[in-house]
This record gives sequence, C-alpha cells and structure tokens, in this order.
Amino acid sequence: MNADPENDRRPDVIVVGAGVIGLATACYALAAGADVTVLEQGDVGAGSSWGNAGLVVPSYNEPLADRAAVAEGLREVFNPEGFFALRPRPDAHLLGWLARYLVHCTPRHYRCAVAVFNELNRDTLRLHRELAAAADGAYGFRETGVLYLYRERGCWKQGLRAADRIRAAGFRADDLSPRELRKRVPAADTSVIGGIHYRDDAGLDPALFVQWLAGEVQRRGGQIRTRTEVYGFEGGRRRVTALLTTEGRFRAEQIVLAGGAWLRKLGGWLGVRLPVEGGKGIGVTMAGAREATRVPLILAEVHAAASPIGDRLRLTGLLELCGLDMTLDPRRVRGIHQAVRRYLPGIPSLDRAQVWRGLRPCTPDGLPLLGRLAAPANVLVAGGHDTKGVSLAPVTGRLAADLLAGGQITPALEKALSPRRFR
Ligand SMILES: Cc1cc2nc3c(=O)[nH]c(=O)nc-3n(C[C@H](O)[C@H](O)[C@H](O)COP(=O)(O)OP(=O)(O)OC[C@H]3O[C@@H](n4cnc5c(N)ncnc54)[C@H](O)[C@@H]3O)c2cc1C
Repeated sequence: MNADPENDRRPDVIVVGAGVIGLATACYALAAGADVTVLEQGDVGAGSSWGNAGLVVPSYNEPLADRAAVAEGLREVFNPEGFFALRPRPDAHLLGWLARYLVHCTPRHYRCAVAVFNELNRDTLRLHRELAAAADGAYGFRETGVLYLYRERGCWKQGLRAADRIRAAGFRADDLSPRELRKRVPAADTSVIGGIHYRDDAGLDPALFVQWLAGEVQRRGGQIRTRTEVYGFEGGRRRVTALLTTEGRFRAEQIVLAGGAWLRKLGGWLGVRLPVEGGKGIGVTMAGAREATRVPLILAEVHAAASPIGDRLRLTGLLELCGLDMTLDPRRVRGIHQAVRRYLPGIPSLDRAQVWRGLRPCTPDGLPLLGRLAAPANVLVAGGHDTKGVSLAPVTGRLAADLLAGGQITPALEKALSPRRFR
C-alpha cells in the first residue's frame, strides 16, 4: 500500500516519462485545464532528450524506413567506426522489428510518411516559435537554419533533389555553391563541394529545453516525480486504475505512456505490442563552437551533425539498433570525431570532450506513435519519434493534449500514427 498521502491525489492525467514528449504533453494538457503528474524513473531528461543535437528540422520529412537507408546501412554495418550499427541478439522482437521495417521500405509508404511529416512539421514550427517567445531565450532557440554540407557529387545531387521537394512543401532552402557555402562556414574543409541551407530550421540547447519544459509544468501547477519508476499497472483489460511505482501506487483517470525507447516494455505490461527499438546515438561536446560554425551543420555523407550549443560545439552521430543497451564503444566515439573532421578539420581533439549517449525510440515504419490504445482505453501512447523527437515535441504534446481532452486529430494522422497499427 502507498504510505505517501500525496499519491492519494488522483490527477486527471499521469504521464510516464519526463523527456521532451512527456513534458510537452504535460504542458499542453495543463494549459487545457487538466491536473497532471509526470512520473520519471531517473531525472528530468534522463532518456534521449538531454544531450542530442537540438535541431528543429521542419525540412526533415523522411521516414527512417527507406530503401536508400537500407542500402547505406548494409554498407556501414561491418565498419566498427561507421554511422550505422546493429547489435545482434537472439531476440524475436529484433527480428520482427527488422522484418516490419523492410516491409515498410516501399515508395508508397515513403510518400505517405512524407505527407504526414509535412503536416506535423508545419504545426511544430509554429508551436516552437510560440514556446520560444514565452521562454524568452531560456534555452537558446535560434532560427539560424540548418546547413547541409556535401563532399560527394552524387550525394549533393540527391540533396538538391530533396531540397526541391522541401521547397514544394513550403519551406525555404538555398542551394549553395562552394563559394557561398564558405562565406557562411569559413571553417569548412576545401573538400566540401556544396551545401544546402534550410532556412526554416532552428537549433536549441536540448538540456535547457527539457529543463524549461519541466519548469513550465510546475509553473502551470503540475507535479513531476523523479526517481519514480513505473513497474506495472493495476486494473482490468478495459481500464488501468493505478500505476505501480518504486515510490508507491498512483491512481489516475488517464495515462500517457511517453517512455521513449522503453515503450515496448511499458506496453508489454499491458499486453500491448509497441514495437519500439532503441537506436543508440552519441553526442560529443567540446569547446570551440565560435571557431567552427554559428549555424548547425549536417554532414550529409556521414549522417553526423555539428551543433553550436551555447559556446560549445556538439558532434552527434551513430544509429545503433541495440534494444536498451547503453554500452559506449570508444571506436564509435572516435568514428564520429573523425567523420566530422573531414568537413571541419579545425575541431579540437577528443581529450577534453564530454561524451553522452541516448536511445532514439524507433518504430519499424519510421512514424511516431500517437493515440489511444484499443484497450485499456484510458491509456494514450506518445513517442517513437526516432531522430525527430525534439523537433516534433510541441505538435505531439499539443495533439496528445487534444486527445486527452476528448478531441480528435485528423483522420489521416489518426490512421498513420495510431499505436494500434501494429496489432
Ligand atoms: C545523438 C542523438 C541526436 C539527436 N538529435 C536530435 C535532433 O537534433 N533533433 C530532434 O528532433 N531529435 C533528435 N534526437 C532524437 C530525440 O532525442 C528523441 O526523439 C527524443 O528525445 C525522444 O523523446 P521522448 O520523450 O520520446 O523519449 P526520452 O527522452 O527517452 O524520454 C523517455 C523518458 O521515459 C522515462 N521512462 C521510461 N520508462 C519509464 C518507467 N518505467 N517509469 C518511469 N519513467 C520511465 C525515461 O527515463 C526517459 O526519461 C537525437 C537523438 C540522439 C540519440
């Protein structure tokens, strides 16, 4: 039994997970008048929301499930310093996940997913601007755009075609010659042959962003309980009546599962299949942002980013399908540093760098999960944003709050994002 009288409160909504998605959902639900408590097994931002690249990328509308990504992944998988990896394990979930992923690598699914992301991206940019105006500089939101750098002609040509599609979707993109590009990024290596500047993209400090969102939850009257791990649910097939946690039992009317890469585990306790696989990525933070770049960069061929985070520079990269494994392999850290150096030769060595890793929550069709479960029907799922969670947090939080308040989302979004689609 629960000895803490606080737990006897029965908030309208309990959100499991204090990452960007859970906190954004809590903020918008509080704004709509709900009483909200957030439960987090670690500290605020303990998952993948803390040390990532902090890019807000409405220009990025492609799903991870994509034929081109498979071809690149197969080339990289045996390179111990490469940008893609797969940690083999005798696990039916991983095999099932890979099989579903391959099934979704079709031109038809790609087109559907792009349409979904274009819709989400338009709203998320507007909401990011609103939040940033309210935050008044608290987390370094800067609309500098994001600049892609290319070293290989074939990849640049593909990038230019992608830029045409992004312009057609209503976002601004400048194709840059080597001269124009060097004006914007003087530190770029001479081997960089071209660039594309997506001017509607932005950058922020992700750790400050989650902290600000957590502060907002509290300022709006919500509670955040850290070091409180959910380990089970009570109730019948139709409704969850309480959550069992390491800090006692919590009751709530509605529950939001925003557990990032842990969603599969949380769903499993409810007898529901949420095929989310952890996609480990690494962030390496060092001094020297001013010398390297003022605009966040994506280094196209190596799928890495270099983001100015305050006066520091953060290099991010790697996608390792690894379940919940958090091992740090020195070869991967070195691989990211060396890959970025080919574009920015002047970056400092790794000697004084801070290294972080996080698990991107990846679904096999590359689309997020947002919607109610069929049963228990008082549980809503919000997550599975793989490489786009920071970018899509505001729109996800807003839509989740609408659903909690009994509202609807568009039929197209409901169908594409429903957590029931994997039954
Ligand atoms: C290297 C790297 C770079 C990235 N760069 C970008 C970027 O530039 N732009 C972008 O948009 N996205 C980026 N991402 C992706 C982004 O970080 C994720 O999509 C996003 O953080 C997911 O947020 P989330 O809230 O769903 O999950 P998380 O942040 O992982 O939060 C889930 C939370 O749930 C908690 N939890 C889980 N289980 C339980 C339980 N049983 N009880 C209580 N609490 C629980 C976890 O502790 C965790 O804090 C990057 C990711 C990585 C790894």
